[in-house]
Amino acid sequence: MQVPLLVTDFLRRSADLYPGKTAVVDGNNRFTYAQFQRRANRLSNALLDLGLCKGDRICYLGPNSHHFLESFYGTAQIGAVLVPLNYRLVPSDHEYMLNHAGVKAVLVDWEYTAMVDTIRPSLPGVEHWIAAQEGDAAPEGWLAWEPWIATASDSTPPPVDLDENDLVSINYTSGTTARPKGVMLTHRNCYVNAYGMIAHLRFCHDDVELWTLPMFHCNGWGGVYALTGMGGTHVVLRAIDAASIYDLIEHEGVTLACMAPTVLSAILQYEHRDRHQLRTRPRFIVAGAPPPVAFIERLEEELGWEFLQIYGLTETAPLLTVAAPDYATDKNDYARRSRAGVAALGVEIVLLDDDDNQVPRDNETVGEICARSNVVFKGYWEQPEETAKAIRNGYFHTGDLGVWDSVGNVHIVDRKKDVIISGGENISSPEIEDALYRHPAVLECAVIGVPHEKWGETPLALVVLRNGESVTEQQLIDFCRDNLAHFKCPTRVEIIDELPRTATGKLQKFRLRERYWSGQRRVN
Ligand code: AMP
Repeated sequence: MQVPLLVTDFLRRSADLYPGKTAVVDGNNRFTYAQFQRRANRLSNALLDLGLCKGDRICYLGPNSHHFLESFYGTAQIGAVLVPLNYRLVPSDHEYMLNHAGVKAVLVDWEYTAMVDTIRPSLPGVEHWIAAQEGDAAPEGWLAWEPWIATASDSTPPPVDLDENDLVSINYTSGTTARPKGVMLTHRNCYVNAYGMIAHLRFCHDDVELWTLPMFHCNGWGGVYALTGMGGTHVVLRAIDAASIYDLIEHEGVTLACMAPTVLSAILQYEHRDRHQLRTRPRFIVAGAPPPVAFIERLEEELGWEFLQIYGLTETAPLLTVAAPDYATDKNDYARRSRAGVAALGVEIVLLDDDDNQVPRDNETVGEICARSNVVFKGYWEQPEETAKAIRNGYFHTGDLGVWDSVGNVHIVDRKKDVIISGGENISSPEIEDALYRHPAVLECAVIGVPHEKWGETPLALVVLRNGESVTEQQLIDFCRDNLAHFKCPTRVEIIDELPRTATGKLQKFRLRERYWSGQRRVN
């Protein structure tokens, strides 16, 4: 008889097998697997007591914490859908996503409750406001997490009739459109992804994972399920800095960490490495953007730590390809290991040309990376037309461009979609352009990603002014800062006379990019 693949199995299994083992370390808080399960149960029962049930959307907004981890299971155990939000966004972004997803209850880290209060009047659908914090006192209008769950039962919540194709989360992603899209992930998507991560990244019960990647990010939550399922230890870090990372590697015996290339850079530049007595040699999984080749070389040769690279998207829960030093990849060929990977188990990758024909494995013909797999999402929340654009002829179209080598590695070479990846965060060019168009002096503008030593890419805005108007570049940057999250703002603005267009008026961004990338491929 078949049983549905439900992510709630992961915590239940480890609580059963390893009840006394440390599951979560968050500052001074340490919880065993039995405690983690009981806290998640209390959260589930407290949510049921508020009247929330299967299918209801519940958001978590805040940095990584034990409360965030508990929310993954506390919501899933009652069949509710978790909507993790990026706390670096501005209130108007949150307002849009909370209303778009029809969120009924918000679980908000104490540092962000005041920010959410500023948009409260515009959130008519939200019925419950819970502050995630340690103490008993919550800000006015908020339920304090700890006393709230303390009154709820810690027993397994009543069974819910759940199918593996039911939603477990809606994750908003900045993509090709000015507004973020809600990626619907099912229990099956996340379960199968966790299996892929366990197989390829070797998650096991001895692992101690340091969380530097935010859990609202797809590479983050994939790891939440995989590590919990294997009974490993989650070490949560609120503010990311190299000294704390080294401290935790030393004191908690970290064996695994998943990070964006910028965090890897901070780790490599840290001057006081020799102050730490490290007894483990962690595996470092880099995801979200291509890391500089020199980083990998230093990581492996100077520190003796293992580097693994994965590629995937929010829409694929996320794992699509993995680069490990195996038969297909020469261990010392760092250039290849930073850019290429083989399809993960259970993932079929094809590279398609503009007519949807597969390109040959010749190391040079570029095609769009497309995938078929159980990890491919159910669709965009309430945007069937966007879903139809992304999933065509049975394949999910990633918007990334790649070439095949002869031994089955996909090399990512560029992006077809209008997305800038800066420090591992996706930034939508149309969103910045929309913000700039609101400035009265701006006639036309185009935003492109240009190379940046620290962030990989950074947004550059090319702006044509209205006749007779004058504005400085800095004023335009400041204007964006008033309207967009900081990480999305252009770091440079150039005023130009006109934008290059085709005869039919279509903007030719590739011509703008040429100047800055001087012929090199964007992801090379
Ligand atoms: P997100 O949905 O926010 O995780 O962003 C997914 C996008 O990040 C992909 O479509 C790629 O453009 C980029 N990406 C993810 N992983 C990698 C990687 N290992 N190398 C290069 N680009 C990556």
